Amino acid sequence: MPVTASSKSYRVGRSKTGLGLFATMPIKKGTRIIRYFGPILDSRIPEQDDIENKYLFELNGRWTIDGSVRKNVARYINHSCRPNAESDVRPRERKVFIRAIKNIEPGDEINYDYGTDYFKAYLKPIGCKCPSCENKRKKQRAEARAERAKVKASTERKAKKSAPKATKKKKLNGHAVGKTNGRARA
Ligand SMILES: [Zn+2]
Repeated sequence: MPVTASSKSYRVGRSKTGLGLFATMPIKKGTRIIRYFGPILDSRIPEQDDIENKYLFELNGRWTIDGSVRKNVARYINHSCRPNAESDVRPRERKVFIRAIKNIEPGDEINYDYGTDYFKAYLKPIGCKCPSCENKRKKQRAEARAERAKVKASTERKAKKSAPKATKKKKLNGHAVGKTNGRARA
């Protein structure tokens, strides 16, 4: 039997993107943290197939868990591209468990990868806000800033360099004016 974390090992709390689920105790890698549950929808029944919300968890081509129910605390778990947990999908049992894939420390936000379909449908259009993507963006912004600073510094250097040249040229031109009848030399 897999080790299952007690319900006291997590709490709902404020995360950057709204609410999230946070560890309140150390959770060992491999531990089942929580079950993702809700009514099971059958895609062969049109009324059930028509249900649309962002808490649907597809088990396979036919069965989907509607995780939008209040009691499903696992719905608070946010997506991450570099998660510390994963969804353990059991289509035959029609169950999903969220399991730690790293040792999770108290205070850490628990997250798992929602998968490509969800990412494309919901996250890509608005930009993924998971810590991993935020860090990537931060790094890119810093690099862009550094690049701009570099360009600025080099432009300023060039401007400084060309400034004395310009005065030199003027003098040259001034000198040349008399000899070449005003035609500038290359
Ligand atoms: Zn991400």
